[in-house]
Amino acid sequence: MAMQSDGRMMRYARQRVFAPIGGAGQERLAAARVAVVGCGALGTHLADMLARAGVGHLILIDRDVVEWSNLQRQMLFDEADADAGTPKASAAANRLRMVNADITIEPRVLDLDAEAARELVGEVDLVLDGSDAFETRYLINDACVEAGIPWIYSAVVGAEGMTLNCHAPLVDGTRTPCLRCVWPDPLPPGSAATCDTVGVLNGAVSMVTGMAATEALKILLGSAAISPELRSFDQWAGTYEAIALPRDPDCPTCARGEYDWLDGAALGDAARLCGQDTIQIRPERLAGTRLPAIDLAAVAGRWRDAGTVQQGGDAFVRLRVAPFDLTLFSDGRALIRGTSDPATARSLYARYVGM
Ligand SMILES: [Zn+2]
Repeated sequence: MAMQSDGRMMRYARQRVFAPIGGAGQERLAAARVAVVGCGALGTHLADMLARAGVGHLILIDRDVVEWSNLQRQMLFDEADADAGTPKASAAANRLRMVNADITIEPRVLDLDAEAARELVGEVDLVLDGSDAFETRYLINDACVEAGIPWIYSAVVGAEGMTLNCHAPLVDGTRTPCLRCVWPDPLPPGSAATCDTVGVLNGAVSMVTGMAATEALKILLGSAAISPELRSFDQWAGTYEAIALPRDPDCPTCARGEYDWLDGAALGDAARLCGQDTIQIRPERLAGTRLPAIDLAAVAGRWRDAGTVQQGGDAFVRLRVAPFDLTLFSDGRALIRGTSDPATARSLYARYVGM
């Protein structure tokens, strides 16, 4: 028993002897609260590193379920998760609880909307972007700037990666740029390469998240070494760049206080593509209001004769009707796999869930 607890005391030994952290820094990390939005390639790497580093409270947010094509780079998932189609946030939390039982890990299976984003920034010191959707990133930017907290943008595609500390406090009293200082508006749909079209290497994911995770520690410790630069690399070509970007004194968000995504002015459709052949339906956007929680067991009962039903406890229920499968969450949100046509997805939702 004594041996085992002595071992536990050594968990952060290599971090405590790192001078810029030390024992006092380790205590600060234990008291820190961080959200990771998106538990895909970026998010699983980031959450893994922060959990092992001893960040005391992690909130993991993801709207999706584990698929086989995720295993190549999404480090917290295994074959059993892909077979079961476990929600990513739950699977990541289960894995990380085995890695570090001394910290609190809170999974949330949801699609981050304005209401959830506002709530989230009130609960944490820092937000890490692990999403791959521009809407989510602009929403995170709005919510963090409004709440006055920093967040870290990370992106990866092919062998290239990019990261930026957004709205992070520097020791001279200024802040790093926010997302809209750098890109006032998102790129039009279809104009950028995505992981679905050009792929992604797990080494590039490791590199960009390694940089972001270290910046996260600096921000949580209030270090003077926080990077104010946009840093990018191409691992295949072997190039690296760091560009100093000043804040835009006329930035719509961090200068003028316009929160277009948070205010819903820039909200997306209720049905949207979520990967190559999956559509997400958000009924509260169709109805214009939040709906009461769905009784998933009752839905599973109604579906018995419609196809193959899989129950994931109180997290989700899934119906397979070839060539589709429909995963319904208790907030009424659904992922419909097997189509890239929003109209088809909407009609399946109407048929099996009802509006
Ligand atoms: Zn700005």
